[in-house]
Amino acid sequence: MDRGALTLLSGQTILVTGSSRGIGWALARGLAQHGARVILNSRNAVEAEAAAVALGEATATPAPASVVFDVTDQDAVIGGIAEAEDRVGPIDVLINNAGVQHREPLTDVSLFDWNRVISTNLTSAFLVGREVAKHMLGRGHGKIVNVASIQAELARPTIAPYTASKGGLRNLTRAMAAEWAGSGVQVNAIAPGYIRTDMTTALVADPEFNRWVIGRTPAARWGETEDLVGPAVFLASELSAFVNGQTIFVDGGMSVVV
Ligand code: NDP
Repeated sequence: MDRGALTLLSGQTILVTGSSRGIGWALARGLAQHGARVILNSRNAVEAEAAAVALGEATATPAPASVVFDVTDQDAVIGGIAEAEDRVGPIDVLINNAGVQHREPLTDVSLFDWNRVISTNLTSAFLVGREVAKHMLGRGHGKIVNVASIQAELARPTIAPYTASKGGLRNLTRAMAAEWAGSGVQVNAIAPGYIRTDMTTALVADPEFNRWVIGRTPAARWGETEDLVGPAVFLASELSAFVNGQTIFVDGGMSVVV
């Protein structure tokens, strides 16, 4: 990595929700490798702190911190953002990444599971985004990156709550940009395709599904968490200074073919 890469995000404090593992963890590491001071988050204090320690060992940038809160709990979000800004400093960039999946035919989905998915994947971006934006708008600058999904564009059977949540998140991204872009707060989204993480372990292990993903993806492979780092760094940095309300699909081309 050259000096330019190391300094691209230097001086930036970045909160990544849901970053104890998976995509959030990979984004945290990639952003730190580009010079950012990262604040990790999850609901599990032990795992969040372990992730912060591991990130500190993996990168040479300012010591990462962890702040534990549930992104679906309004009071916890308000407390968590206040704690992050008190302990670490003003949040320059927020990555709304925390999310869950639920696979079941739609006629069997309970209201409880519907609400759990919508609140974790969509309402969370409103709660955390609203709280962080209040601070950012006061300072006249900031960036928010929402982690959507290829399901923001395409549906498939058995994941209706998830598909609805990610479609909503894509349009929430546009709504946030419409309200805040003029005040210096940029909001965009990344829409990953099929990425190998804990969330997709069962799919990777299913030979039929695995064949379907590889055959359906022009790049002919699953995505890796590292594939998402470049677009996240771009949207977190001044390289994207005039990009507002966009959703960048990082899916090996899956969303552009039938
Ligand atoms: P993982 O299940 O591997 O990780 C999810 C992370 O979110 C964990 O750190 C988890 O920690 C945290 N989390 C979950 N619920 C909450 C909550 N209520 N409050 C705070 N943290 C929470 O998922 P992925 O890394 O695969 O997915 C990350 C994001 O990327 C999600 O938004 C997902 O929808 C999206 N995505 C994933 C794709 C994939 O193929 N994997 C494809 C497209 C999008 P804990 O449970 O301990 O709180």
